Amino acid sequence: MKQKIVLATGNQGKVKEFARMLQDFPYEVIPQSEFSVPEAPETGTTFVENAIIKARNAAKVTGLPAIADDSGLAVDALGGAPGVYSSRYAGVNASDKDNLNKLLLNMADIPEASRAARFLCVIVFMQSADDPTPIICQGEWHGHIAMTERGEDGFGYDPVFWVSSQNQTAAQLTAEVKNRLSHRGKAMKVLIDKLSEKLGYLD
Ligand code: IMP
Repeated sequence: MKQKIVLATGNQGKVKEFARMLQDFPYEVIPQSEFSVPEAPETGTTFVENAIIKARNAAKVTGLPAIADDSGLAVDALGGAPGVYSSRYAGVNASDKDNLNKLLLNMADIPEASRAARFLCVIVFMQSADDPTPIICQGEWHGHIAMTERGEDGFGYDPVFWVSSQNQTAAQLTAEVKNRLSHRGKAMKVLIDKLSEKLGYLD
């Protein structure tokens, strides 16, 4: 029988991605909404802290092992902003569109050559709420912030995240290509490797 694992997100897209990624593992991934886990306040100043806060909260409420991720955009010319505040850059209840508009406005005077940015993602696996050695995985995706939006797919800052190797924004990529290149895809790959090691699949 598969070990149930709680996923500390309400995002259906992420639930699907994690379930697909872990399908060959002895784990059944269940979103925290199915256990009515209340969202944990993201009070950390790093992606690592916030991912641990979310995983610990889900593990504590359910008594199950938990996975959480935390991610965001860091723009060089803005000193790494919006960073851990990416989802609330334009305010606590800001929409993706509000955040993106604020970013374009704040970068209006920054020339194309100085618009380098990175998406960052941390994924944490905790065996229990008091796990002293969580598995911590990180992924980065380098790109540039475009002057205007392009593309309909994806979410968040995707329409302005220019991926020069593809000559497209992240919002113009297929899900398959985005998963292969993205910060989240890379962090997931690290998680697969570390879980394989933990379970003895690589011995
Ligand atoms: P969270 O990790 O789901 O809390 O996401 C944090 C925020 O970072 C999101 O609300 C987006 O604004 C931004 N973000 C993270 N990953 C991506 C991505 O793959 N594309 C676009 N925006 C992203």
